Amino acid sequence: MTLKYCQGPDCHTYTTQDRLKGMKGSKTFQTRRRSDFYYGDGNFCSMNCYNDWANKFVDQAIDHFGRVTTAKHLTEENAWVKDYDYNYRDDNPKSNYRSVNKITREQRPLTEEQYDDTNYTLNER
Ligand SMILES: [Zn+2]
Repeated sequence: MTLKYCQGPDCHTYTTQDRLKGMKGSKTFQTRRRSDFYYGDGNFCSMNCYNDWANKFVDQAIDHFGRVTTAKHLTEENAWVKDYDYNYRDDNPKSNYRSVNKITREQRPLTEEQYDDTNYTLNER
């Protein structure tokens, strides 16, 4: 099992007991190290550390991967989402599962298999 460090730039400055490491007389607060973390796709020990990273690096990251400079458009052709009735009863003969177009409000029935199939969509890609 490989351990990894929290990527928060200020992780070591949060003075919790679990960060205090080292021999008596030479203890230091250290960056947290674990097999996995819960935040930021497993890279950060806390939302604090995630936010510290974002506040420091988010502009560089956006410039690196491409900044959004014009509005994106959700069109009719790509506005289909899957939906179902939570309180559906088995004696209802109509299909519980359906595709709903977020723009036109059109509804089309789905089979349960189509609903469960994460690759199935009416959207054009
Ligand atoms: Zn951290």
